[in-house]
Amino acid sequence: MGRVQIPGTEDDLRVAVRDANLPTLLLVLAQLTGDDEWLSERYAPAPIATPEGSLFPDDTGGYDDDLADEIRARAFETLCRLRDEGAEVPQAPSLERLRQMMQFSVAEPVDEAFAAMLLEETGFVDRDTHWQDRLSSAKAAGSSDFNVLVVGAGMSGICAGAKLKQAGIEFTIIEKNDAVGGTWYENRYPDCGVDTPNHFYSYSFERNANWSGYFSKRDELYEYFEHCADAFGLRPYIRLNTEVTSMRYQEATATWEVEILDAQGNRSTLIANAVISAVGQLNRPNIPDFEGLESFRGESFHSARWRHDVALEGRRVAVIGTGCSAVQLVPKTAEWAAHLTVFQRSPHWVSPNRDYYRPVEEGLIWALNNIPQYAEWHRARMIFGFMDRNWPAVPADPDWPHPERSMSEANEGLRQALTAYIGVQVGGRPDLIEKCVPDFPVFGKRLIIDNNWYPTLAREDVDLVTDPITAITPEGIQTADGTVHEVDVIIHATGFKTNKFLWPMDVVGKSGTTLGEQWGDAPKAFKGILVPDYPNLFCLYGPNTNIVHGGSIIYCVEAQMHYVMQCLATMAERKALSVEVPDAVNDAYNEEVQAVSRTLAWGHSGVQSWYKNAAGQVVNNSPFSNLEYWERTHDFEPDEMVLK
Ligand code: NAP
Repeated sequence: MGRVQIPGTEDDLRVAVRDANLPTLLLVLAQLTGDDEWLSERYAPAPIATPEGSLFPDDTGGYDDDLADEIRARAFETLCRLRDEGAEVPQAPSLERLRQMMQFSVAEPVDEAFAAMLLEETGFVDRDTHWQDRLSSAKAAGSSDFNVLVVGAGMSGICAGAKLKQAGIEFTIIEKNDAVGGTWYENRYPDCGVDTPNHFYSYSFERNANWSGYFSKRDELYEYFEHCADAFGLRPYIRLNTEVTSMRYQEATATWEVEILDAQGNRSTLIANAVISAVGQLNRPNIPDFEGLESFRGESFHSARWRHDVALEGRRVAVIGTGCSAVQLVPKTAEWAAHLTVFQRSPHWVSPNRDYYRPVEEGLIWALNNIPQYAEWHRARMIFGFMDRNWPAVPADPDWPHPERSMSEANEGLRQALTAYIGVQVGGRPDLIEKCVPDFPVFGKRLIIDNNWYPTLAREDVDLVTDPITAITPEGIQTADGTVHEVDVIIHATGFKTNKFLWPMDVVGKSGTTLGEQWGDAPKAFKGILVPDYPNLFCLYGPNTNIVHGGSIIYCVEAQMHYVMQCLATMAERKALSVEVPDAVNDAYNEEVQAVSRTLAWGHSGVQSWYKNAAGQVVNNSPFSNLEYWERTHDFEPDEMVLK
């Protein structure tokens, strides 16, 4: 067994133990020293608590000052000794060891499947062994002539490229923009950022120890994905400024004929054995077809197409929409504008989060970079705190007596806490309280992290208008009460075209039907990935894979890519040219998806959202906890497929 040297001066180590999360540090020290006294009753952390009115956990361990000082002093001494003497490279924990350590550290039972998932998410266990060797052996046996076309170089496309490159499979990534990064490239509105903690919202195979904040803003996220494109060596494989316009499956050759259009207007055709769609769910802006939209004499733009050349200072500005994008961009807009009018069709639930603007402490960054296994245990605890902890509040309790407003006692508890929070925030404005309390259950829509939303609405120079918009006029926005709200600039924070997956690409399957025709506005795919009649087409972040209650969409996409790579390995081993999911398998899966969705908060009849189609069917969200989705995508089952 090798030895590891911990670097650093005494000052570095002192600052590291000052800023480290103590329950995480205990796990690390137990692993580094092999001494389980670090996991003894004396140091047992308190359960992860949720500060009142917030859904975001306090995971500091709840120690009194004396005990916290003792842990820090002993940790400092131990780390200094290990620095001077060197330490044995800590072993990756076994499944049972990780489970026991996590149970100690979170003071709650941790089940075996969750521990197995954590082993992979931390990198203690390499999940790629499920396909890496199989693909290599198949290639050595002569099954190597296979190429994949990936549509999109955002978060999903970069994940796909990384794994295909690692496998030695030929691939090309087609990207419509002039840069990688997808949503984090396109969205540049003020305060744009992520609502999942960054140490979780990052690839498990490319952690970033240097996030500046717990919830980073757009520029840092975009830089991360730029970095990943370089780190994974993807640049030579990416064709920017190029759009896939159509693709047609050729049954005779089991290939996809893909038509692309470059920025100069040149069309050409590529042939691929398989296509991975990595186009995202939120990249085609939706501007509602308001009457008179074109007649407006001022300037207008969508939140995802922010016009930095349009000055807002001193002008009368309207923002339409009160979703995640609006809540982030409205406070800055209000600071700049002479007057801001916010048009709300329905209020969303908004939760405080004490860590939203918290910078990552200097010593924590040092620990993540320099103390062996600190980053792994830190990620494991982040996942525990943020992934499925809210799941129990999502399903309907059939015996709950207030099903019109909440799902269960747990869900009602959140409603009460968040309603009280609104009261505290805008206590002096009963008119605002009435307008701001949603009538649908918490988690009917994504819970928005508060970005000073309510105090902004309460500003004297801000109006919250709840009368429905009836038209856009040359002067501004007309509402049902007949008022014309005169403005100079209209910002449409009105979301995206989300029910038309893969739109506007024309995707033609085996039988000559387009995906648009087959799906209408009710898309369905097996595990969100495979579609009957469209062999060798894999969707990432496809139908029914979005998450609402918590978690990281990167985690979900990695799970999907893991499934895809196993599928490709099976095809190579069996020398199969095509893979297709049978109708019956897809139908059975989707019947379950729909049956479960109807019992969840986002399937509630009182919720109207981008997750639902015109018939009220949930087409975007996963009906499963993140853990269950990981389990369902963990092992590709060839018997469920037609492999030819
Ligand atoms: P969104 O959630 O779809 O919100 C669109 C807003 O526009 C809603 O308030 C909607 O009202 C309103 N609207 C739509 N059509 C309208 C109409 N005809 N008249 C009046 N109002 C209308 O879009 P988004 O805010 O861009 O967010 C989309 C998703 O992106 C989020 O759910 C989240 O998954 C993701 N996102 C995440 C972050 C983050 O990580 N922090 C930030 C931004 C976005 P209704 O509510 O009544 O439908």
